Amino acid sequence: MYRDELVKELFSEGDLTLIDMARQFTQETILPVRQKIDDDTEHVIVREILENLAGLGFLRAVWPEEIGGGDVSSALMFTAALEEIARGDAGIATAIGISLGWVFLPAVRAGNEAVINDFGRRCCQDELVIGCFCMTEAGGPRGGGGCDIENVQLHGTKIGTRARLEGDNWVLEGQKMWASNSGIADLYLVAATTDPAAGDDGIALIYVPADAEGLSFGKFENKAGLQSDRNCPVFLDGVSVPKGYRLSGPGTDAEYLHENLTVGRIASAAFSIGCAQGAFEAVLEFTKDRVVGVSGKPIRQHSIAAGMIADMAIGIETARTAYLMAAYKYDRPEQYGARHSIAQLSRASMAKVYATEVAISVTNRAMELMGSYGYVREYDVEKYWRDCKIIQIWEGGAQLGRFDVCRGYYDLDI
Ligand SMILES: Cc1cc2nc3c(=O)[nH]c(=O)nc-3n(C[C@H](O)[C@H](O)[C@H](O)COP(=O)(O)OP(=O)(O)OC[C@H]3O[C@@H](n4cnc5c(N)ncnc54)[C@H](O)[C@@H]3O)c2cc1C
Repeated sequence: MYRDELVKELFSEGDLTLIDMARQFTQETILPVRQKIDDDTEHVIVREILENLAGLGFLRAVWPEEIGGGDVSSALMFTAALEEIARGDAGIATAIGISLGWVFLPAVRAGNEAVINDFGRRCCQDELVIGCFCMTEAGGPRGGGGCDIENVQLHGTKIGTRARLEGDNWVLEGQKMWASNSGIADLYLVAATTDPAAGDDGIALIYVPADAEGLSFGKFENKAGLQSDRNCPVFLDGVSVPKGYRLSGPGTDAEYLHENLTVGRIASAAFSIGCAQGAFEAVLEFTKDRVVGVSGKPIRQHSIAAGMIADMAIGIETARTAYLMAAYKYDRPEQYGARHSIAQLSRASMAKVYATEVAISVTNRAMELMGSYGYVREYDVEKYWRDCKIIQIWEGGAQLGRFDVCRGYYDLDI
């Protein structure tokens, strides 16, 4: 199989062990139950899978060694491992990827002692601690909402959630939408502003424990796919948390927000390719035996099908290379630009825009080649098809993603 040709020289021995663990976990724990996940409305199967992942020590990975963590921050390793998990279920990869990369790792990078002590230590006891990163808001006729909050050109001016310092506490007022793991998380990282007119300096990233007074949730959204990822409105009504729960401070919080946008896009590319890889394996298997036409040959021996299968393989391999290279460069800021820089965002966006389009095309074509069998649960492809569409839409969508690609080449005022 081509995917086993991962360029080993790019990874440490420890990285390869974790990637292998992710592959084995997917094979043994996720794939046997993935067809039941769409009906798991109470999240019993999903929670069990996440608890198993925590039990294996996955949640320790990013925390400092002093508290029992693995001190690992390699985007290259994490995204390759998350692709493996997404081949089983992209929502599980999302739940774990967001906790580690978007919520826990910023605390480690910023040296936030309060969060390291209060939550990192629990992760290092292999307790399941779920993180949620709340950026998106509902928006309104004057803009705001989703992409406007992520748009680096708008410098946080469209964030509606307000943070104010009262004595030794940060107080939050606002409402968030859609965030993955909302309603089931233990720790929320909320993007707010202390003053929209202050632009990037007004951006404040503040941790909120799930039991904080004033934090409440709406109903879970009813989606086309990605059922293992939970999303609901998050209400912040005078939520008050200790001062030390602010991630870092004015200016640096904006940089961490931009780092999250960038690494989130690389991870999104990896999730998409996990879906595409799963669909590709399913179509190779199905078309091997099913015979069609006057020649009496299996589907994949017909040139029209072989051409489509070749295009799928080309898309998967080139998109995988693109996201791994973006991750490699993200891990080397001294050579390729600060992690929050436009250059890094541009590369990451390129990988996401391309990989999500590859995944949509691969799952769509796989379904075509499998006929009606591709449309039913038993053959796995329809779930990959439903799951991968949202990966294209979230985090900027294909449009803002393309603008961010351009920003790496010239000033773009959009
Ligand atoms: C399953 C799921 C998981 C999610 N997880 C998270 C999460 O963990 N955290 C979080 O904060 N959010 C999360 N989101 C929200 C998601 O990231 C946003 O919904 C997404 O960024 C788009 O925002 P929007 O839906 O408000 O669309 P809008 O911002 O209204 O965009 C609509 C359209 O306009 C395009 N567009 C955007 N900007 C421009 C522009 N400047 N010029 C022209 N066109 C433009 C967009 O590409 C899109 O096509 C999630 C959403 C879902 C469904």
